[in-house]
Amino acid sequence: MARAVIFGISVSPGLALGRIRHLHGALRGERRRITDETIPAEEEALRRAAAQVRAALEKTLAAMPAPLADYDEIVAAQMELARDPRLLGTALARIRHRKICAVWALEETVEELCDLFRGMDDPYLRDRAQDVRAMGLRLGEALAGGAAPRGGPGAGVLVAEDLSPADVMELEPDAILGILTAEGGPTSHTAILARSLRVPALVGVTGLPDAARDGETVIVDGLSGCVLLDPDEEDLARYARRKESYESWERHARATSRRPAESRDGVRVSVRVNLENAAELRELAGCGADGVGLYRTEFAYLGKELPGEDALFAEYAAVASHVAPEQVIFRTLDVGADKALPAHAALREPNPALGLRGIRFCLAHEELFRAQLRALLRAGAEGNVALMLPMITDSREVRSVRRILQELRQELRARGLAHAGRLPLGVMVETPAAILTADTLARECDFFSIGTNDLVHYLMAIDRNNRHVAYLHEPLHPAVVRSLKRVVDAAHREGIPVSVCGEFASDPCGVALLLGMGIDALSAAPRFVPGIKHMLRKLDTDTCAELVHTVLTMPDAGAARQNIHERLRRLLGQEFSFLATNHATPGQP
Ligand code: PEP
Ligand code: MG
Repeated sequence: MARAVIFGISVSPGLALGRIRHLHGALRGERRRITDETIPAEEEALRRAAAQVRAALEKTLAAMPAPLADYDEIVAAQMELARDPRLLGTALARIRHRKICAVWALEETVEELCDLFRGMDDPYLRDRAQDVRAMGLRLGEALAGGAAPRGGPGAGVLVAEDLSPADVMELEPDAILGILTAEGGPTSHTAILARSLRVPALVGVTGLPDAARDGETVIVDGLSGCVLLDPDEEDLARYARRKESYESWERHARATSRRPAESRDGVRVSVRVNLENAAELRELAGCGADGVGLYRTEFAYLGKELPGEDALFAEYAAVASHVAPEQVIFRTLDVGADKALPAHAALREPNPALGLRGIRFCLAHEELFRAQLRALLRAGAEGNVALMLPMITDSREVRSVRRILQELRQELRARGLAHAGRLPLGVMVETPAAILTADTLARECDFFSIGTNDLVHYLMAIDRNNRHVAYLHEPLHPAVVRSLKRVVDAAHREGIPVSVCGEFASDPCGVALLLGMGIDALSAAPRFVPGIKHMLRKLDTDTCAELVHTVLTMPDAGAARQNIHERLRRLLGQEFSFLATNHATPGQP
């Protein structure tokens, strides 16, 4: 291996130096045609492989290493996948109908299912392609004559085409120094596990299997998203210095994270956390968040059955009482179209991104929505709860929800169930219509939260799954910056607070600009909260307001980013590179 740099997407920050440990190979096996006589033998081989994988998973479940104890449900889900007729049944049918060997049939089935998941709009469901692929790899290994020894001895940097939680659980957590995979996304299990283990991880690392061999030395830079193969003496010395500074910066940011985030000139910004499910509550105390700025409620709806009011109430009440006296903002169900609930038939809309999504889906499925709102109203009696509506385009949507809430309160009173009186009701600003009518919308609600992820997509007219236009996903585009300013100003003119809960809230450029615009709160994934608070304390509002002023005159995003980067590098020094993780801008084609 020659000294070289390859790139990936950082999903867990930090730096690591170690020897490569390949976990398993790619799913690229034999392609053999078979005869009618050999069909039963191939089918039997696949069934045996599945049984072997299930037995191995059961063993893993029984001896889960402590830092990964919360992932038992994920291993159980993997076990389900090993039984799932869509995977196993389809592969078995393929052997019989196409007369191809088990490995080939498995490979085709895995690819087909992965494509299906990858085409989904919801990032969570899209990342489930990774689970299918990981299961395919395990089955492939078993078919090839049993699992190869996993990873080899000693600590190292795990390299795999893809990883499943079960893969990682079979290893000593302390032996994993970093993780590199060719597949996966920011919400993949690789990402979640790496963050739990607190090791740097990159996904989507191109050219990985060919570039690095077992035992070779690499530096994983989870801050800038690159891997340095075969580092020389100078690289190693630079790595040691960077790691030391980063770790002491991180320790300091975490140690001070409970202090309020107050700019140098005394302006306080509330820094809250975005949570995907109740299990993530354990991250709350360590990150110093001032409450929950976005609780995504989709997770409970991803199973085969729709959750009932009582189950939802139990989840929301547990979250609300855990977070009290701080506030938790529950976003009502944000699904629809090809983010379809498994419990509902797909709607088959011609253009799902512009279809029955978010609040539109809920108002069109009022019974389902009412069950969620009842559960939320009841949870309101257990803590400090606010409600937030996604994908709003029209004030009438807010008025409809207020009317429904009014009816539900009467209903709950009649049933004698404890519930909140009036809960703060806010909207996500993430459509061009909401931006342009922010003033009238602000009169209908108690707060705004700007969802920059969707706002950028809808404003820039790009399909979030279309990599050909990914370079246009640019929150510093003048159209986005002007929109943000317009929304913040409109909210303040109407006397309501405004926050940002999309990815831009954890982009250092976003933190500086939003402080300059007078944002009241920022909300981000737990790992970003200490760094955002730390950064806010280093900035002052006048400098940032001036930066906003300058950026508003910029002709394009590139010029804006360059300008902000220069200013922030001067203000923050080396710390800027610690904060800039994960916000690399995709280049133009
Ligand atoms: C957003 O769109 O910015 C947002 C926070 O919502 P989600 O990412 O869940 O669509
Ligand atoms: Mg959104």
